[in-house]
Amino acid sequence: MASDALIELDHISHYYGARRKQFLAVQDVHLKICEGEFVALLGPSGCGKSTLLRIVAGLTAPSEGRVLYRGQPLRGINPHATIVFQTFALFPWLTVLENVEVVLRARHVPEKLAKPRALDLLDKVGLDGFETAYPRELSGGMRQKVGFARAMAVSPELLCLDEPFSALDVLSAEALRTELIGLWTGGGLPTKAILLVTHNIEEAVYMADRIVIMEKDPGRVIADFGVGLRRPRFRKGTAFLETVDRVYTTMAGQTQPEHVELGAAPGEGRLRLLPEVHINDIEGLMEYLVKLPGPHMDIYRLTDELKLDSDHMLLLTEAAELLGFATIAQGDMTLTPLGETFAEAGVAARKAIFALRVRRLPLIRWLLDKLREAELQQIPWSDIKAELEHEILAEEIERQMQIAVDWGRYGELLAYDDGKEMFYLEPAGAPAA
Ligand code: ADP
Ligand code: MG
Repeated sequence: MASDALIELDHISHYYGARRKQFLAVQDVHLKICEGEFVALLGPSGCGKSTLLRIVAGLTAPSEGRVLYRGQPLRGINPHATIVFQTFALFPWLTVLENVEVVLRARHVPEKLAKPRALDLLDKVGLDGFETAYPRELSGGMRQKVGFARAMAVSPELLCLDEPFSALDVLSAEALRTELIGLWTGGGLPTKAILLVTHNIEEAVYMADRIVIMEKDPGRVIADFGVGLRRPRFRKGTAFLETVDRVYTTMAGQTQPEHVELGAAPGEGRLRLLPEVHINDIEGLMEYLVKLPGPHMDIYRLTDELKLDSDHMLLLTEAAELLGFATIAQGDMTLTPLGETFAEAGVAARKAIFALRVRRLPLIRWLLDKLREAELQQIPWSDIKAELEHEILAEEIERQMQIAVDWGRYGELLAYDDGKEMFYLEPAGAPAA
């Protein structure tokens, strides 16, 4: 078994940032990819997917843990792995063919061999006839195909794809997925294993043999399971949808006890960050759910029907749960009585419910407590920032405070003056709960 492993990440952790403000991007990841496996790495933005790819490719050395390639410790760049990025930089002054040849030449493939090899690769990705075209003449999908051909030119054993379809339009993305699957299952690739990073759940279920799910804050693996679906796969098939459901269930999480669910206030322990969601979206979701005939709604179907992307949906789910408006179980979202009440209420009642729920969230509670104790019940942004700097990354502070203000304003708990850069307590925020 061990000899089968192409790459093994052995208890990898990775920190970013300078010594005193280190940020744990990836925590204790153990991942083994064997020959013949197509693995999808799935998770919300910021959970460390790209970081792991960079570690696999040897572009980043992990802060902790070991990387083994075919059992040998990896030092420096991994010569057996190649990454295809979301947008692949082609040389605009070179033709399609030359763009592939240039990679082969860099690898010292003799000119006589380079051309037929490049032509063959372009043929494989479905670009024959476009050899003499320039990148600007190609659609996004075709440019990405040149990217694939280029990645393949170096015959990587391990092909790493970092959201390779997410910059493409829907049709080109689907065509390219099918083509890649065809190449992979047809044995037309020199590649022994593929590691696909995506935050598109359906894409992962459609393509991979195995799905590894990550969660953020800190980035870590929370699930790793095989996809037992035969190919070709049909997106509307029952087994397909069941697998998608399972992934959603894992990603949305079950409702946990409140102290775990809400996290701690700054200075008191593990801070739970607020999901970046607008009130309007929460309102919209609740209004939609309350009009449905049944009590449960499949999150996957919901995402589809509301035309949301899965990232956004996960944030919304998290917010709905945090607020106690919905519960998540077995991939279904169910409105709680509170959520129902909220959805059916008028503006003033909604604000009241919202205020009540939001003030229990540790970060907002902390902010309200501070404002209550402050002189004139106001605090400058710089003071809040200084306090939070021990807890969260600088750019995250700004975002968290924006959410807190957005939510606090709606609940009429607090306000913020942009010009004066000052937080204020609002009347509804004044009385202790
Ligand atoms: P993903 O690809 O899943 O969106 P990344 O691996 O890009 O996640 O990032 C994981 C976390 O690490 C994010 O919070 C991101 O902001 C942070 N991060 C990524 N690269 C750097 C960097 N060079 N310096 C500081 N923080 C970084
Ligand atoms: Mg990324």
